[in-house]
Amino acid sequence: NNIVAIVGRPNVGKSTFFNRLIKRREAIVDAVSGVTRDRNYGKSEWNGKEFSVIDTGGYIKGSDDIFEGEIRRQVELAIDEADVIVFVVDVEDGITPMDEEVAKLLRRITKPILLTVNKVDNAMREKEAIEFYNLGLGDYHTFSGMNGSGTGDLLDKLVELLPEDKAPEEDEDGLPRFAVVGRPNAGKSSFINALIGEDRFVVTDIAGTTRDAIDTTYNRFGFDFKLVDTAGIRRKAKVKEDLEFYSVMRSVRAIEHSDICILVIDATRGFEGQDQSIFWLAQKNRKGVVILVNKWDLVEKDTMTTKNYEARIREELEPFTDVPILFVSALTKQRLLKALETAVEVFENRKQRIATSKLNEIMLPIIENNPPPALKGKYVKIKFCMQLPTPTPQFVFFCNLPQYVKDPYKRFIENKMRSIFNLSGVPIDIYFRKK
Ligand code: GDP
Repeated sequence: NNIVAIVGRPNVGKSTFFNRLIKRREAIVDAVSGVTRDRNYGKSEWNGKEFSVIDTGGYIKGSDDIFEGEIRRQVELAIDEADVIVFVVDVEDGITPMDEEVAKLLRRITKPILLTVNKVDNAMREKEAIEFYNLGLGDYHTFSGMNGSGTGDLLDKLVELLPEDKAPEEDEDGLPRFAVVGRPNAGKSSFINALIGEDRFVVTDIAGTTRDAIDTTYNRFGFDFKLVDTAGIRRKAKVKEDLEFYSVMRSVRAIEHSDICILVIDATRGFEGQDQSIFWLAQKNRKGVVILVNKWDLVEKDTMTTKNYEARIREELEPFTDVPILFVSALTKQRLLKALETAVEVFENRKQRIATSKLNEIMLPIIENNPPPALKGKYVKIKFCMQLPTPTPQFVFFCNLPQYVKDPYKRFIENKMRSIFNLSGVPIDIYFRKK
């Protein structure tokens, strides 16, 4: 899957552009999952090409007084991680010193850049936009975030710039692909090193080096699996990696290339905003998830510690709480085998096919006993259900009045299914359709 990063200084209309890109698909996805948490990452599709979009600005709170250096680092990271960079400028302000700075960084790279001039909503503005040739980035595209004009042409151009998709949705050899993700210092590298028993993380300070996700096959404790690694090359102590943006940006590609996300969190810090974003990213991409609470050796424990800790995390996971949570230590190697076993289990859960006869035999009586509530005197009759032949579990329930089935009932069905079938750690989709 290709990644498009939107960069530019604050208030040039990055998020407006972002919203236009993801609008249609987002509406569909959110109607199903009921989740509208993230405003900074989304999936988009144009002319049959699918891509992910990241609004780099969305991660800065109170972006008005943002340091120039911060934007610089964001652009650098976008350069590292994205396939296409959309640089947004504002015709009302003209070229500002900060735009110059960003352009300077972008002129040095060979990745495709789409220079887009916002707020162009009349002929005069169109004329004024000519000054942006001075940025030295070649041709530009004009659009109006307000009324949407120019967006179609922009998208045409954007998908032209996308490289051919290299990542297959399913791995050819059928081995589970694990992405180990989490905030900086959570212990991801330590976990991987403890698991595979070698020091394979190279830290380099060569700027602008990109490495594609590398899948290496391993066999440990009798399991064959692949580790999807994109964090192999890191900028040495250069970035304030604490920003949510960095871990998210670092995780996007790894998550998209994987089947299962092993989300490592730091037990001494708890489940934080960044963990939340990464978890959400995995869920949005319909990847399996296992949560490892690492550094458990550092936590003072009594009989209730684990239980309480786990309960607190599950609260943060709402509404997708059916996720394995394990307490591990990369240092003492506590429960590493269990972690691997669980990840493989989630992989199997995600891959499973439930036979149509079995699904109907189990689900129809449950539905019969707990039918959807009648609406305006009309009764919904669910007659048949089946699993779709999709890479991740999706189920369709055929009925007479699908538009009358509301979210609470969908959640009821999902919870029932989770309690009956092995769906732990796996996001699922449930649809109601007219036969
Ligand atoms: P990454 O940025 O997520 O890859 O984190 P690292 O693997 O580099 O770990 C960050 C720091 O936490 C290092 O100093 C590790 O030695 C330490 N660390 C990692 N795992 C554990 C653990 O299970 N227990 C303890 N006590 N320290 C750990």
